[in-house]
Amino acid sequence: MTGDHKTEKVQLHSPDLDELRGVLQAGLKNNFAEVQVSVVDCPDLTQEPFQFPARGLCGSPRITDIGSVQNLVSMADRDKEYDMNVISKQLDLPGAFILGATRGPSKILGFNAEVITLILTELEGRPAVNSSYYTCISPANGNEKGKCFQGKYSEITSDNKIGPLGNLYACEGKPGKVIEVRANKRTGNYSIVTALRRILREHYPDKSMALGGTFLLQKGKARVHLMPREITDCPIQTPDKAGDFLRIFEINAPVICPTVLVSKDPDMDLRIEHTHCFSHHGEGGHYHIDTTPDTVEYLGYFMPAEFVYRIDKPTEYHAINNKSIIKD
Ligand SMILES: [Zn+2]
Repeated sequence: MTGDHKTEKVQLHSPDLDELRGVLQAGLKNNFAEVQVSVVDCPDLTQEPFQFPARGLCGSPRITDIGSVQNLVSMADRDKEYDMNVISKQLDLPGAFILGATRGPSKILGFNAEVITLILTELEGRPAVNSSYYTCISPANGNEKGKCFQGKYSEITSDNKIGPLGNLYACEGKPGKVIEVRANKRTGNYSIVTALRRILREHYPDKSMALGGTFLLQKGKARVHLMPREITDCPIQTPDKAGDFLRIFEINAPVICPTVLVSKDPDMDLRIEHTHCFSHHGEGGHYHIDTTPDTVEYLGYFMPAEFVYRIDKPTEYHAINNKSIIKD
């Protein structure tokens, strides 16, 4: 699909970083034994271990929720695609650096995949740089089930499309001040993403806020899911069945996890958190939580988004985006 998609835009509450630092520092102590939240210069994200196509997370920060899990239910919508060069313009940010969790475009890839989208979109004369990864289940080998596999998106296609849903953070990709989170030894039940989301919800109950960015699982293991490889294998009959066909894997640190989280949905049928991860050792997927609370170590960089853009929202309100995927 090309061209413009129906878009709604809402301003989010975006406190200054020092205030946010204090709120997150206090809140994360309920979920991790060792917590250090700081305001720092964003590290150069073009360097190891990130190797992103832009230097930083700064400049006009915004998030977008594109499509829906609902698209997977309908055969007609399952093959929807969204071009990130088009989306950047709909986000009023041509040339944006866009990162986050998306569904792979199955028709282009030829199989189902969780995609870690990392794209510096095109801008007058400068072509897009697509550093995205896809993660999928490798083809079964006889009786042996397929394994967790990761590849570079650009090795399959030169386009810059995502499939029927995506949760993305967009910015100018500039250096600047960001929130740094160091959190070790998980003592609570929440993943780091869910913990951050709940802290914001609790501290700013009347406000809609969002954070986007990326974190590293530096030590430990994480639970991820992948969809069945075969496109024909995943007829989701109803939204509630979405969780039934996923395969769960445990993957090893270090992994790099672009993420988007929303504290309170301003009635836009938003998915409230979505995190995909990749690694430099061939493992990745849709991140759920670490499985090694006693030894886990996180290091993350985040920015509060100023706006949310809801793109191509299903016409009916289904509220299914979070039901089967997010388990608090
Ligand atoms: Zn996902």
